[in-house]
Amino acid sequence: MSKTFLELTQLGMRYPTAKGEFVALQNVNFTIKQGEFISLIGHSGCGKSTVLDLIAGLQIPTDGGVIVGKREVSGPGPDRAVVFQNHALLPWLSVYQNVELAFKQVNQGGSKQALRSGVMHYLDLVQMSHAADKRPDEISGGMKQRVGIARALAMKPKVLLMDEPFGALDALTRAHLQDALMAIQAELKNTVIMITHDVDEAVLLSDRIVMMTNGPAATIGEVVDVELAKPRNRIELANDDTYQLLRQQVLRFLYEKQRKVAPITSAENQKVA
Ligand code: ADP
Ligand code: MG
Repeated sequence: MSKTFLELTQLGMRYPTAKGEFVALQNVNFTIKQGEFISLIGHSGCGKSTVLDLIAGLQIPTDGGVIVGKREVSGPGPDRAVVFQNHALLPWLSVYQNVELAFKQVNQGGSKQALRSGVMHYLDLVQMSHAADKRPDEISGGMKQRVGIARALAMKPKVLLMDEPFGALDALTRAHLQDALMAIQAELKNTVIMITHDVDEAVLLSDRIVMMTNGPAATIGEVVDVELAKPRNRIELANDDTYQLLRQQVLRFLYEKQRKVAPITSAENQKVA
């Protein structure tokens, strides 16, 4: 894990609006090494999804640029797969067919058997092979999200981009999927950039946590190195001093340095009292 291969340089995004230009992002500079797991955290509306979209090539920046593997991003590509909060599976296709569609994008001309075992491999990774023939509306939200992850992985992306992938799930399902993602990443060594609102999720999964300032003109505020040995175990970490310190560091950034509500002044405090 040494080569820099993803670079955000002077990245900025200005949106035209009825009231004039809105500067969503400004001067975002960051480099990511191959195989790193990066979490992007920040208050709602600060520009996290915009950063992810710019890396995915779903939007083109108005300033600066994104380089992935020595090439400037100019649109979407199979080297960068995206997982959204709402899986977005094709409802008329089975679980198997949804993953097959992605698999075929990067594996053409193989035998029927190679195709079948390739697709099943990705369903196995997310423990969904048992439901290969079900349709998306026949499986739970957590299962759909697993299939969404399998579909993304089946494109063998250099970068896996995830926008609050577990945000819509209950706590238990979320924990299972976080564990699954950790195991998969340990095996495949994908580079992952994941947006989250969840401080514990960020510390548990990441090599580094990128904390964004509030917009407008949002940028990177602080970066936390998560120096916790892998594989990580959520139960053991709960009592780990380093884990607690990292957690506090993120919480302090979000709720003190970047608080959304203006702090109560001492004069106001006296009025209340
Ligand atoms: P986050 O994902 O952190 O919640 P977004 O990246 O979605 O934030 O949005 C960042 C800011 O840019 C927000 O203030 C949002 O309203 C604004 N924004 C996003 N897309 C557009 C657009 N197409 N036009 C105008 N403003 C936008
Ligand atoms: Mg968002």
